[in-house]
Amino acid sequence: MTSTLLAPDFKSTPFWWERTPRPALGAPELPRAVDVAIVGAGYTGLCAALQVARGGRDTLVLDAEDAGYGCSSRNGGQISTSIKPTFAELARQHGAEKAFSIIQEGHNTLAWITQFVAEERIDCDFTVPGRFHAAHNARQYERMARAIAAQPRGLEVAAHMVPRQEQHKELGTDAYFGGAVFEQHASLDPGRFHQGLLERVLHAGTAIVPHCAVTRIERSSSGFTLSTTRGTVKARDVVVATNGYTGELTPWLRRRVIPIGSYIIATETLPPALMERLMPTQRILSDSRRVVYYYRPSPDRTRILFGGRVTSGETSPQISAALLHRSLTHIFPELADIRISHSWMGFVAYTFDTLAHAGQHEGIYYAMGYCGSGVSMAGYLGTRIGQQVLGLAEGRTAFDNLPFPTHPLYGGRPWFLPAAVAWYRLLDRLPL
Ligand SMILES: Cc1cc2nc3c(=O)[nH]c(=O)nc-3n(C[C@H](O)[C@H](O)[C@H](O)COP(=O)(O)OP(=O)(O)OC[C@H]3O[C@@H](n4cnc5c(N)ncnc54)[C@H](O)[C@@H]3O)c2cc1C
Repeated sequence: MTSTLLAPDFKSTPFWWERTPRPALGAPELPRAVDVAIVGAGYTGLCAALQVARGGRDTLVLDAEDAGYGCSSRNGGQISTSIKPTFAELARQHGAEKAFSIIQEGHNTLAWITQFVAEERIDCDFTVPGRFHAAHNARQYERMARAIAAQPRGLEVAAHMVPRQEQHKELGTDAYFGGAVFEQHASLDPGRFHQGLLERVLHAGTAIVPHCAVTRIERSSSGFTLSTTRGTVKARDVVVATNGYTGELTPWLRRRVIPIGSYIIATETLPPALMERLMPTQRILSDSRRVVYYYRPSPDRTRILFGGRVTSGETSPQISAALLHRSLTHIFPELADIRISHSWMGFVAYTFDTLAHAGQHEGIYYAMGYCGSGVSMAGYLGTRIGQQVLGLAEGRTAFDNLPFPTHPLYGGRPWFLPAAVAWYRLLDRLPL
């Protein structure tokens, strides 16, 4: 099957890397000491770096791989308000006031990225096309309609329902039961966004050292000593920005984030008329399944990018390509003979309370746990953590001092994932 499914020039690397190859940063010398060392050169680490470097701190960013190797050049480029739990769920756990400020923080991320991309003039195809969130059964459609009609006061977002009989205005399929349009959700080219950030961080005078894994962080009298695969560095402050790639370096964090592979494909170029029929708008798309599919047209409207979680355990890009293609053709039968040009994956970081977390543990700053919605949240919390390092009041967030839960049986390997995915998949098949 795979031999005809994969295009002759098929690649198991992100489609975005075609336009924005991994940055050639060379192998800069490691300084002996800096004010701030940042572990991880994705959106979180680079946004934190931009703040502290512009705040006058001597700053160093280290990544175990190429800069942006993690999710920040692999994602779907979909931007939402990024908070998973509902107001009612948060209010039950944290009280109404805290719930309000957490949801508000989600709105802030959307406003932040819109303003940031414009102010920094980052050329990354940022647009606000809105999202069509499709209902995978009639019950879900009703649930969405109720949620939109009863939005918490002061936290309303611009949204409207699209009934099934009008669905073709949004999406050329009969596979759904209508859905909701969230008018302010945005999109960008994630590789270009990362590159734009990288250039601004370099311009601010920060050294970014790729292929330099941090293996140990020890407290010292004047701050911290970082052991790396290329030598040691002293730093007054350390920011850990490793999200789904968090490992043994920070065991406390590792026990709190759950790395989950998210898989995505790009189709080969589609005829313009077919593209118009299947995706008449430039909206980003997702559905109401618990094991969600997210998809979109490429920024130039020549291809469809289609992502989701396709197996219970982790798998190869070749196997995920075949499975994602099957799901894609379930939605769009017309794509049965269309081949896949790219298939790739990355590790997102879930948390036990499905909230992002940012703060300090034993003097080390961190921001992570975006639960698959980190394009705006990672940059936003990276920025706020950078401001916290500088001691600025504007760095405070609703996530400060939130308990960061773990589980007694969890050490960093999500052994429960296959069972959880199978269970959610079963629920998705029921009319719930
Ligand atoms: C396929 C896919 C699709 C996605 N789609 C979307 C989407 O459409 N919308 C959305 O909002 N979010 C999406 N996400 C999630 C989003 O991309 C992430 O939340 C976000 O990029 C996280 O950024 P980050 O900087 O925190 O982490 P990352 O970009 O993952 O960077 C972490 C970095 O830390 C480095 N690192 C780890 N350990 C060490 C160490 N010991 N020493 C040095 N470096 C280390 C890694 O090499 C890595 O480069 C998607 C993710 C994936 C994988």
